[in-house]
Amino acid sequence: MDSETASAATKHIQRLERLLEINRSLSASLELEPFLHSLISAATELTGCELASILELDEGGEELRFLALPWFHQEPLKMVKVPLQNSVAGWVLQNGQPAVIQDVAADPRHFKDVDQASGFGTRSIMAVPIIYQGETLGVLEVVNKTEQAHYTEEDLTILASLASQAAIALQNNHLMIKVQQSVDQRTELDRMKSDFIAIASHELRTPLGLILGHATFLREAIQPDQRAQMDIIVRSAMRLKEIIDSIANMDNVQRGMASVRAHSISIKRVVEEVLDSFQLEVKAKRLSLRTDTGQEDLLVEGDPAKIAIALSNMVKNAVTFTNPGGHIFISAESIPGYVKVSVIDDGIGIPPKDLPHIFERFYQVESHLTRKHGGMGLGLSVSKVMVELHGGRIWAESVEGKGSNFTFLLPTNSGQAGTPSRVFIS
Ligand code: ADP
Repeated sequence: MDSETASAATKHIQRLERLLEINRSLSASLELEPFLHSLISAATELTGCELASILELDEGGEELRFLALPWFHQEPLKMVKVPLQNSVAGWVLQNGQPAVIQDVAADPRHFKDVDQASGFGTRSIMAVPIIYQGETLGVLEVVNKTEQAHYTEEDLTILASLASQAAIALQNNHLMIKVQQSVDQRTELDRMKSDFIAIASHELRTPLGLILGHATFLREAIQPDQRAQMDIIVRSAMRLKEIIDSIANMDNVQRGMASVRAHSISIKRVVEEVLDSFQLEVKAKRLSLRTDTGQEDLLVEGDPAKIAIALSNMVKNAVTFTNPGGHIFISAESIPGYVKVSVIDDGIGIPPKDLPHIFERFYQVESHLTRKHGGMGLGLSVSKVMVELHGGRIWAESVEGKGSNFTFLLPTNSGQAGTPSRVFIS
């Protein structure tokens, strides 16, 4: 090997090493703009040119605009549009092929307005398409090979390699813009939904309160033989109130508006109060209701109203899904670090395929047996968020045809209470 060939080989290896080094540092960069600027600097350096730029199709798809330029060209060229016809970049974009023009004066494709705007004199251009999965996203070009030299095959390979890096960056950026747009859309939809729920539940609550108040008053005033009808009105209005409360509770939690006003509460008291509110239904269905809350007072740091909502949704289900004459057992006990509350029934049970889903919003077990019970499929999802707001856990075990066991744990350690970040809404 003569000394000239040896020095060319060394230079070639040095350029490849430099390209590798640049590729490595480029792949570490995340922001699009600094990335593209490093890329055009690398293109200038590695091809031995005076400057480089990146162009992309503008929104209308009719013209190209500069996406990355050396700083001294940014001001004059930021508004310049390059047409698809009669420009080298336009030709490269439309044909998806590189163009190597050693003398632009002799090539009709050169678009002279850019030089006029920047005051720069272009002598030669090498441009490659930026292609991602068959789609041409833009063009990377270098101009004026120094010392009037000609572009080489190696220059073209290096530029194409840099263009493939640019392609990934541009594609990632397009994806990020799309993701951001759908996040924005979702946020807007969530806001509209929350506004709607807040307005609707507020507007519904007032007339409903009046219906309930007057119906309860009339129930006492009318003849006993008409009371059954009035009971239906009161019960239905109560049901509507529960639905509105459930939706509003769920929405509050989702918006992060729910907070736990924690103080020391007795779980025994909560159990007693919840059970009191079910006496009529239990009697009407001739259910046997047994409780065991032990001897000691079971104290947790929490919000009694929210724990009562969680428990009463579970008891309501036990009453609803247990056949007349059936049994319900409610227990509360202390285990290390927690108070454990269980609602056990020997009702219809839950099929194994449905069990993993019953805490999801609006989930109901589809079956001719349960369809007649109504409900919205919100009760257990509300219980779950109420328990998780306290840093607790809730789960269910069930055997179809035999009964169900719903349990929740609440931490007794006050430090764990009120951690809304642990609320998972499915
Ligand atoms: P809903 O308000 O409609 O009762 P929930 O979220 O409280 O909704 O419960 C979801 C579904 O889980 C119910 O529709 C029912 O099919 C089932 N389920 C809940 N609790 C029980 C239970 N104790 N026994 C049998 N099925 C139950």
